[in-house]
Amino acid sequence: MRFRRLKLAGFKSFVDPTELRIEPGLTGIVGPNGCGKSNLLEALRWVMGESSAKSMRGGGMEDVIFAGTATRPARGFAEVQLAAELDGDAVAGPIGVSEDGELEVVRRIERGAGSAYRVNGRDVRAKDVALIFADAATGAHSPALVSQGRIGAVIAAKPAERRAMLEEAAGIAGLHVRRRDAEQKLRATEANLTRLGELIADME
Ligand code: ATP
Repeated sequence: MRFRRLKLAGFKSFVDPTELRIEPGLTGIVGPNGCGKSNLLEALRWVMGESSAKSMRGGGMEDVIFAGTATRPARGFAEVQLAAELDGDAVAGPIGVSEDGELEVVRRIERGAGSAYRVNGRDVRAKDVALIFADAATGAHSPALVSQGRIGAVIAAKPAERRAMLEEAAGIAGLHVRRRDAEQKLRATEANLTRLGELIADME
């Protein structure tokens, strides 16, 4: 998967609609202190399904909405849109991609109404978005996004944490999610079978 464009509106310090083209290769973000470099990386992680407000440097998820300044009022919503190109045979799970192979994910949060996601114009669940990116070996916790302090964290990581990073990079994190789902369904089915056995025994 290759990211092509990132669009933000009302997200943290990016109150006005802003569009960035992401060119092939390594992308670095430079600028003076406080200009919004980390906010951009956070927008990327957020649209890919980040669910921890703390890791977005906020107390609650609504803190990503532009909070206002001395001269501009606060906004009622924040929206981030990510356009990506899928590699050759990759598919965006059950969601599908547009005819030109582009995947467009939009996440929007409104005050008091929580987050909503759309993929290529269709409403989807947060879980669907997380799976698309997990299968493509990227996502909110992708090792491809190197934020401040991350290199130190990799060096200091425990073996189990390092394994999780490698699995994320290898694109098999999505399989773990599916396995957990399947195990839950299996347990529920086993409980139903046990109950059924008891009912049959009662009737005999
Ligand atoms: P540094 O180089 O110091 O790490 P940076 O370029 O990474 O800075 P950010 O941390 O991305 O900058 O941006 C900080 C700016 O974003 C601050 O001015 C802060 O007030 C502003 N900001 C963060 N959240 C919001 C919000 N919800 N509404 C308005 N402004 C916000």
